[in-house]
Amino acid sequence: MKNRWNEKEASRYSDDVLALRAYTSRLIGQDEDLVLHDGGNTSVKVVASDFFGDEVDVLYVNGSGWDLGDIEPAGFAPVKLDVLKRMAQLENLSDTNMVNQQRAAMLDPNAPNPSVEAILHAIIPFKYVDHTHADAVVSITNTSDGEARIREIYGDRVLVIPYVMPGFVLSKKVVELSHGLDWSRLEGMVLMNHGIFSFADDARVSYERMLKLVGEANDYLASQNATEIKTATASEVIDLSTLTQLRQSVSQLAGKAMLCQLNQSPEAIAFSLLDNITDIAMRGPLTPDHVIRTKRIPMIISGDIEEDTLNYRAAYQQY
Ligand code: ZN
Repeated sequence: MKNRWNEKEASRYSDDVLALRAYTSRLIGQDEDLVLHDGGNTSVKVVASDFFGDEVDVLYVNGSGWDLGDIEPAGFAPVKLDVLKRMAQLENLSDTNMVNQQRAAMLDPNAPNPSVEAILHAIIPFKYVDHTHADAVVSITNTSDGEARIREIYGDRVLVIPYVMPGFVLSKKVVELSHGLDWSRLEGMVLMNHGIFSFADDARVSYERMLKLVGEANDYLASQNATEIKTATASEVIDLSTLTQLRQSVSQLAGKAMLCQLNQSPEAIAFSLLDNITDIAMRGPLTPDHVIRTKRIPMIISGDIEEDTLNYRAAYQQY
């Protein structure tokens, strides 16, 4: 994992906590091993002054509509920390109500909507909290014996949380499993089939813990020979007129105009040659968070593709 921390740049933010928070968020957001398509979220806890000048504990968490890769201080939503902590103690809370109450607890009504994982950030008792859906971690947790593998890699240095949908129920799960826990002995928290958290009272330490934890997951995958990407060469080149016929036929099946993109990279060709390609390609995304943009709609074609007699079976699935 490449450490992107730049001491000279970081020193410019030494007296501005939120600017420093934005800086390390960008370091995370610009790293494709950590974040894909504005996934992940970050926060910092500060003491701020409210409208009356009274001091109030605030969680600044990145808001919707901002990509971590180029986030600025304006991209963070200031939410009263005690309100978020009290919400975590409720028995039930619909996600709609959660979003509304989080907005109502913001110091600045014009700030963007806070992340749906804001309560989770609030209950982690450290100043800086970083959360990513790092591919290496998710790849390991998504295996059938993923939890055993995670414990093999990290031992008791991370808290392991079984999968529940992100939102209020996930926060409740973490409250339940961290009851009486000594957080100071932890380096992070792994959410099965979802992602990973790192945290610390220092921005750089939290960032570097994220790199270390994800790096260990990468090393583990390499040790299991799970990082090799197979390649192959196409036996024939599909011409553009065939591609347009495919696009038209799929559009007719779908009942609306569809786009069609040809990918004949060596990696894509090897993928298409897998015996179980239909099964793999038609599955849902790697994790619910990856549904955002990373799963294309697959089309499986069998039979000969000839210019005049297009004989194929197309399958598509809409997410
Ligand atoms: Zn997440």
